[in-house]
Amino acid sequence: SPHCTVKGRFAPSPTGYMHLGNAWSFLVCWLAARAKNGRLVLRIEDIDPDRSKPEFVDGIIEDLKWLGLDWDEGVDIGGKCEPYTQSESTLLYSRVIEALQKDGLVYPCYCTRKELRSLASAPHLSDYGSAYPELCLHLSEEERGEREAAGRRSSMRLHCEKAEIGFTDALHGDCCMSWKECGGDFPLRRSDGVFAYQLAVVVDDMRQGITQVVRGEDILHCTPRQVYLYELFGCTPPEYIHLPLVVDHEGERLAKRHRHFELCKMREDGISAEAVVGYLAYLGGLTPTCQKMSVRKLLDTFSIGQINTNALQLEKDVIERLKGLS
Ligand code: GLU
Repeated sequence: SPHCTVKGRFAPSPTGYMHLGNAWSFLVCWLAARAKNGRLVLRIEDIDPDRSKPEFVDGIIEDLKWLGLDWDEGVDIGGKCEPYTQSESTLLYSRVIEALQKDGLVYPCYCTRKELRSLASAPHLSDYGSAYPELCLHLSEEERGEREAAGRRSSMRLHCEKAEIGFTDALHGDCCMSWKECGGDFPLRRSDGVFAYQLAVVVDDMRQGITQVVRGEDILHCTPRQVYLYELFGCTPPEYIHLPLVVDHEGERLAKRHRHFELCKMREDGISAEAVVGYLAYLGGLTPTCQKMSVRKLLDTFSIGQINTNALQLEKDVIERLKGLS
């Protein structure tokens, strides 16, 4: 609608089942959009074929619905709303790279990981730290031709002349990071042809009209690269809200081995969605006490300013706690 100013997105990667950490990010993503009468998009980020599995897509959709987190937009297929899917957009990503290359902003890079590792301590490259040392930036056409003729495959790196990139985050305030600190010139397309997350996410957020990005703090270091892409495309970046992560009772980030924190597993164990929502809301600072909560109810009192800045540390007996709440 013309009065809708906020548009957020759920952007899961179907590389596993959804766990408490994903639930926390999606919960706040939904609240931040709905609190402003905003709209939401579901986008499946399956750009990396080695890591994405179609069977996880259905699981993610089921988990979002179970939590009560709805969305408005996707591809209309015979009246059914299917999520946007990155693997179906590769033509667009390649055209964007071509356009950037025409402007001289992208260059083919023939360096292998092994070569870069062996150069890591070379004194003449010490300025670059762990950033890509721009070895292929100044290759001549002839040198490129030689590498192509030798059958070497290239990635496509984005070059940046700016030393620093700044942006504002709703929880972290003004952030400024150096290009090198963020890894330097980075691939928009890998040498195996896979498009980079950084490119796909920005192209999709732009064309889907996303104005608010809510995601984990683990992605904060990627944001300068994405902000730079917005700048190149002459577009305003979205509002960023990078959330504290959910960690286990020992402070470890949730990973594959934490099977018991997967929503489908908890559901099997008889835990209710309202218990999960209420528990996360309490840990994240959205409610003063720990009790069952529906997402609709949370919406009545939600504001971004309530969110904790520290990691959400799960108690050791969280599963028992959630069973008790259910
Ligand atoms: N697909 C990414 C992930 O699941 C999230 C990307 C984003 O929110 O920008 O980690």
